[in-house]
Amino acid sequence: MSTTLAAAEASVIASVPHELFIGGRWRAASGGGTLPVEDPSTGETLCEVADATGEDADAALAAAHETFKTWRNHPPRERGDILRRAYDAIVGRTDELALLMTLEMGKPLAESRAEITYAANFFRWYAEEAVRINGRFTVNEAGSGRVLTMKQPIGPCVFITPWNFPLAMGTRKVGPAIAAGCTMVVKPAKQTPLSMLAMAKILEEAGLPGGVLNVITAKSSGATMAPLIADPRTRKLSFTGSTEVGRKLIAQSAEQVLKVSMELGGNAPFLVFEDADLDAAVDGAMVAKMRNGGEACTSANRFHVHASVAEAFAAKLAERMGAMRIGRGSEDGVEVGPLIDDDQRDKVAELVTDAVGRGAEVLTGGEAVDGAGHFYRPTVLGSVPRDARLLSEEIFGPVAPVSTFTETDEAIAQANDTEYGLVAYVYTRDVNRAFHVMENLETGMIGLNQGMVSNAGAPFGGIKQSGFGREGGPEGLEEYLETKYVAMNLP
Ligand code: NAP
Repeated sequence: MSTTLAAAEASVIASVPHELFIGGRWRAASGGGTLPVEDPSTGETLCEVADATGEDADAALAAAHETFKTWRNHPPRERGDILRRAYDAIVGRTDELALLMTLEMGKPLAESRAEITYAANFFRWYAEEAVRINGRFTVNEAGSGRVLTMKQPIGPCVFITPWNFPLAMGTRKVGPAIAAGCTMVVKPAKQTPLSMLAMAKILEEAGLPGGVLNVITAKSSGATMAPLIADPRTRKLSFTGSTEVGRKLIAQSAEQVLKVSMELGGNAPFLVFEDADLDAAVDGAMVAKMRNGGEACTSANRFHVHASVAEAFAAKLAERMGAMRIGRGSEDGVEVGPLIDDDQRDKVAELVTDAVGRGAEVLTGGEAVDGAGHFYRPTVLGSVPRDARLLSEEIFGPVAPVSTFTETDEAIAQANDTEYGLVAYVYTRDVNRAFHVMENLETGMIGLNQGMVSNAGAPFGGIKQSGFGREGGPEGLEEYLETKYVAMNLP
């Protein structure tokens, strides 16, 4: 690491508060405890952040609850203006926020910059929506009365976010919640708390009143968050993370009959038909597979390719993935960073070993990188048999398994053969086939001839065990609003 880089890194880490943000004040954890934040490319500790106690979590919810009484009536235009100022600040500070994100999460700087643009767009989108929250007014069927509906903010929310998109998974919830007039307690993943703390500071500077947004960082997420989910002051839980944890949180939410949004795991199929533009499909595959180093819920988990083009597709993909430069994300030209930790790298290695043991062929990669950090080589596996575990389990790493089909309906059946239903990618130039496939895929989102679906103005979310609820677009705002109906008698 060069000295200049080290100084820039130290400065960007020092610029972010390492404390809890509760009721508009930055403060240490009540027990004085801290937790380390690690650089996954070196394994070294970057800094320590506060380790919230149950008392701190309760104080954060109390602040959200108290502030809701006034914030719910705060002028929508001002709510929107705060979000717009925060959007401008994030975009203006892209380089420093990208470095911060790369340090705590490991992804290359170009990927971090892309996430920051994506994350900021939720603030811009919902800044514009804050003044367009409407009810409706109609004459009832009998003509003797009127139907009036009004949209009101649901109340204090609890947000729990993962490490893979440390900022965007926060702004997708915080943006619409602020626009709707909700208050909130946010708990980022313990591996990547810094981006969320930076976001809180930006919102504070943009004029967000104290208590609207409260951020707590904690070592033991379950023990810290369960009392908040069980607390009657909480009115909504929005979670992004694994299906396994999501199931537990849905069960906990049942106690208070909380309104719940669940953005859970995925197992995205990437279908390439024989009429597809193969080079375009490989370009799309690079995005769908290698965005975020494969550590994305939308990551293409399995490639189902028509038998007549499978070999050519796999060879082209292996050439592109094999040429990617691996390294520390903050270094120039690096295209693939480390995985988040050793557990994740071990899991990826185990899935590859399983597939190879069952007869898959390694076309490139297929091994971890020796030395510091949690690196795994971009890998393409050909002739992957149907019983390989990585076709049914979320890989969350830079591994592309290619298997084949011969009939369109066989491809659809293979794609749907999973408990997940987040996203699918389809490459074909035949319009009739495209519609047939899209109408029969069991996913919440589809990329048709494109390898990415994320967009602040579109409803992101899954079906089946990938969850429920949507983030982005008008649907994302609805998640934070209640509909109240008034029956008016006008005799
Ligand atoms: P995870 O282990 O489920 O953790 C997600 C968050 O939940 C973290 O903040 C974690 O805190 C917290 N958590 C863990 N156990 C908890 C409990 N018992 N009670 C309350 N909170 C708890 O998931 P991850 O490994 O961070 O993220 C990867 C997963 O997220 C993948 O499955 C991916 O597909 C999914 N994901 C889905 C979407 C989507 O939009 N559908 C987007 C991104 C990621 P600590 O880490 O601090 O323990």
